[in-house]
Amino acid sequence: MYRETIHVVADVDYAPYSYLGDDGSPTGHDVELISEIANNMRVNLDLRLTTWDDAINAVKTGQADVVMGADVIADDSGAGMLMTIPLTSDTMTVFGKESIESVGELYGKKIAVIESNGAKALLKSYMLDPYCTAYATYTEVFESVESGENDYAVSNYSVGLQILKTLQVSDIKSTGIVIMQNYFCFGVREDEPELLDRINTELVSLSDGGEISRLQEKWVGSSTNVQSLPDFFREHAGLVWLYIAGVIALLTAFLTITIISAKKNEKMLRRQAETDPLTGLANRAFAEKLIGSILQSESEAAKRALLILDIDNFKRVNDTLGHQQGDSILKSIADVLRKSFREADVVGRLGGDEFFVLMQGVQGKTNVETKAKEICGAVVKVCSANGSECRVSTSIGIALSPEHGNNFTQLYAHADAALYHVKSNGRNGYMIYSDEYAAQNAAENLLLDMD
Ligand code: GH3
Ligand code: MG
Repeated sequence: MYRETIHVVADVDYAPYSYLGDDGSPTGHDVELISEIANNMRVNLDLRLTTWDDAINAVKTGQADVVMGADVIADDSGAGMLMTIPLTSDTMTVFGKESIESVGELYGKKIAVIESNGAKALLKSYMLDPYCTAYATYTEVFESVESGENDYAVSNYSVGLQILKTLQVSDIKSTGIVIMQNYFCFGVREDEPELLDRINTELVSLSDGGEISRLQEKWVGSSTNVQSLPDFFREHAGLVWLYIAGVIALLTAFLTITIISAKKNEKMLRRQAETDPLTGLANRAFAEKLIGSILQSESEAAKRALLILDIDNFKRVNDTLGHQQGDSILKSIADVLRKSFREADVVGRLGGDEFFVLMQGVQGKTNVETKAKEICGAVVKVCSANGSECRVSTSIGIALSPEHGNNFTQLYAHADAALYHVKSNGRNGYMIYSDEYAAQNAAENLLLDMD
């Protein structure tokens, strides 16, 4: 056996790692851990809690074998010591009554730190050491902030929380500013590498058995980097509400955007379902529905006319100029129709080279005939406007409502019959349906001159 007793020292004011419990006996994470280690090593444990300075000096001068609560990155106090495997991580955090956003805000402020702990050396690298006052115990560190002697304290996060709880101080809080990630370990004298090996071996086997994690969870929390949710709520009530408000605002915005885009989508789909893709005019299905509902409504615009247009010899146009040019002519004709009629009129493409217009508020036959003539003239000009070497014209069949029908099917049938009559009488003209559309009537209305 290496020795019968190991002499261990630690800080008396270092909750949750080493401190005196309510019954005055040593307790805390490190205390439980070293008891476990001594037990496994089958040695007696002589444990003494004192000030940090005394504890570290006791190891250096050979009065003790092990010091607990040392930093892996030790400052001068750790010189000449060997450090064990890191046991717990506990961020070095800034505590104070006023919140700060960055370490930079500490310049010119009074900072309390504990003597012989890494904090002061650490703050030196931030050039904050001139503002630091060191105290022997953490209790004094936090008391000095509470009394206003200092503005901030720099302490390990979990140690700070414990001290504040013990002191029952509620106006000092963690600012959330982390100066450094800090790892705790045990330290032995430089000339005791075998003892270091023994302790490390025990630590590895306790870690394997899950004991180290269990102790850490019990005393420090599963990770001191991450505050527990209740702690976070307690310390940052304002921020939490801000966060909740932010989340609500985001959700509302998200829902609004979703609803708007759903509506936009719906609108787009509806438009797609109602529109002829080539010309952008109303398609047959939509036109039938729309015209049907218009015809049902009794209004002062009750006199209406349905015009069916079919382009003359369009097959030949396609054959001579190609289908693409044919498409472009169909689009130009659609533009002509769109521009020629009023807002209240319905213009659409029935399919192929066939278009229709429902004119509302028709004053009389002349009114419709003038419009039909105008359209025939405009269609003839489409090709020259397109710059293509073609001749294109249209035939128009017209049915009037209510005399030729009061629904789409009836009106279409009559307009189509009139259209057939125009086609068979030479094309490039229009005709209003008449029960006895005699050949001479038709001949009068036909514009045989293609130019
Ligand atoms: P008619 O004077 O008797 O109307 O003769 P037409 O050659 O125009 O014959 P009809 O109206 O029966 O045929 C329409 C032609 O229009 C058939 C097809 O070649 C062409 N067509 C149909 N849809 C389209 C289209 O979307 N684009 C193009 N470029 N041509 C089409
Ligand atoms: Mg045609």
